[in-house]
Amino acid sequence: MLCGGGLKIFEKRVGTPGILRDFCVFPKLTFNYRQRGIRDCFSPSCGSNMYFPSWLSQLYRGLSRPIRRTTQPIWGSLHRNLVQSSQRRIPEFSSFVVRTNTCGELRSSHLGQEVTLCGWIQYRRQNTFLVLRDFDGLVQVIIPQDESAASVKKILCEAPVESVVQVSGTVISRPAGQENPKMPTGEIEIKVKTAELLNACKKLPFEIKDFVKKTEALRLQYRYLDLRSFQMQYNLRLRSQMVMKMREYLCNLHGFVDIETPTLFKRTPGGAKEFLVPSREPGKFYSLPQSPQQFKQLLMVGGLDRYFQVARCYRDEGSRPDRQPEFTQIDIEMSFVDQTGIQSLIEGLLQYAWPNDKDPVVIPFPTMTFAEVLATYGTDKPDTRFGMKIIDISDMFRNTEIGFLQDALSKPHGTVKAICIPEGAKYLKRKDIESIRKFAADHFNQEILPVFLNANRNWNSPVANFIMESQRLELIRLMETQEEDVVLLTAGEHNKACSLLGKLRLECADLLETRGVVLRDPTLFSFLWVVDFPLFLPKEENPRELESAHHPFTAPHPSDIHLLYTEPKKARSQHYDLVLNGNEIGGGSIRIHNAELQHYILATLLKEDVKMLSHLLQALDYGAPPHGGIALGLDRLICLVTGSPSIRDVIAFPKSFRGHDLMSNTPDSVPPEELKPYHIRVSGPTDSKAERAH
Ligand code: ASP
Repeated sequence: MLCGGGLKIFEKRVGTPGILRDFCVFPKLTFNYRQRGIRDCFSPSCGSNMYFPSWLSQLYRGLSRPIRRTTQPIWGSLHRNLVQSSQRRIPEFSSFVVRTNTCGELRSSHLGQEVTLCGWIQYRRQNTFLVLRDFDGLVQVIIPQDESAASVKKILCEAPVESVVQVSGTVISRPAGQENPKMPTGEIEIKVKTAELLNACKKLPFEIKDFVKKTEALRLQYRYLDLRSFQMQYNLRLRSQMVMKMREYLCNLHGFVDIETPTLFKRTPGGAKEFLVPSREPGKFYSLPQSPQQFKQLLMVGGLDRYFQVARCYRDEGSRPDRQPEFTQIDIEMSFVDQTGIQSLIEGLLQYAWPNDKDPVVIPFPTMTFAEVLATYGTDKPDTRFGMKIIDISDMFRNTEIGFLQDALSKPHGTVKAICIPEGAKYLKRKDIESIRKFAADHFNQEILPVFLNANRNWNSPVANFIMESQRLELIRLMETQEEDVVLLTAGEHNKACSLLGKLRLECADLLETRGVVLRDPTLFSFLWVVDFPLFLPKEENPRELESAHHPFTAPHPSDIHLLYTEPKKARSQHYDLVLNGNEIGGGSIRIHNAELQHYILATLLKEDVKMLSHLLQALDYGAPPHGGIALGLDRLICLVTGSPSIRDVIAFPKSFRGHDLMSNTPDSVPPEELKPYHIRVSGPTDSKAERAH
């Protein structure tokens, strides 16, 4: 397999001896201040609820070791770690700067060493101790009390919290009994000799502690302060490490070339809405590319046959919770490749770049067709961490007396479908079932029939009385239900019934989880390839016209090419999506490399203005190689890896939900004279206060 070979090569080539650091894995901190006594100022009020420096060690250890973690007996894995550690290269965090060490790295092994630290004052207790923080963790510093050090004491006692200071002193042991085993630096403290206030901190808009709740608007307005939190530090450093590993895998192990493509470009027909950039030529605009799609294909024509880029993309799609107007893709294109080649490349890439503090990525990923995922999960991005699959039970009800089932089955594509809610009778309340039925009626114009397998629980299902005992038994057999399960049954046209049950599957999973049932293991990463998408979809605004299901450069499925000229709606594409835990994290396709076919699809089937793409059509005619590619949504991937609630938590300076930069108040108005060179005049109101509202 592609990546297996890759890992071996990496060990040989990149496994140069490096600097060793001590790694300690600490449990999540729990505080018991009273027992610890006053010497230990590591209390909830001074700390953070993150994992302290262990996260950083874990991060670098994990990401610098390209070998899959396995569960082995402790001695076995310890031995392996020791062997591997001699091959690791861990970054030197204190090169070129005044500090000798980071706050979080000091241990008993440093006892007696003279150190210089720089950091922010996290907390001070009774002018006796303070806790100094940097990105790597926290360390306790003793404020000297003797007369001779009065100036040092003054600096350290007067500097407000979050001031940035430099201290020099000796690493000493904490007095016996006052060690803090939960703090990675908890065996030592710093006996300070000199201190310098590097910059004082004014009163902050919020405390820099992960457990202090603040609104997202406030966090975004003062993003530079929010970034000081351990959580943001972890997210951004993990992102950087994963990208580094991806570069290494693609460029060093597989010969990809990292190429930047323009961000001032031309409008692309179809696809997402693009941002316009005015030019000085009257009425002429650039567009910010929604992706480097055209450029990467043109690079293939240019013989750069393995392209990759960490590409910034722009889509003017309005506000959506998991979208940003500007976002980052790991963008890839290859010549002479087929679908399985791209899939293997991506599986190897993710396995290689995956952080070691997470469960390892198991490859190859399973694959399902678009038709299968729709029928089984009611969506093209299913969360496959749990079951509750949709089952077709039409055959059971051919002779039913239940009106809405009869009705549905008498129609051409009518079906009866169901999902089973495990222990639903125990965990779902009467009002839950009512709101499920209301949701189905309001949003899908569909009926839902709840069937309780335990007949005594049939409190909310009057029609269920029409379900005969034999049907109940058949249902139990088909759906493999248990006594306390509830079956939600609906009837109607295949796609509609599936989409409804797909939504209810997720709703019910959420409901059960709020009631304490663990359905989706938070440590599990469940990847899935979805393939064989339709090439075209009916246009929303005019269903008789077609639009590309993805983009117009996607090649048709080889066995469906004839359908393009007869029944294009039925043609499948060579598009593939990568789904992780119910989120689309990537998508790509084998491309059309034949100019004539591309022209036919654009002009005849999609009715696009081919002039806009004449450069691409022309290029395809000059010996374009067969090619294909993919783009991974980096923000969403990192969001899932870090378990963050929002993609904004893995972007250093994100836009707000409504696409605003709350820190700088962007977008902002521009005086009319500055618009003149662009031949633009604003006709609407330009109330900057209104713009401030995010
Ligand atoms: N450019 C496509 C997108 O952004 C991905 C691809 O087809 O490679 O969705």
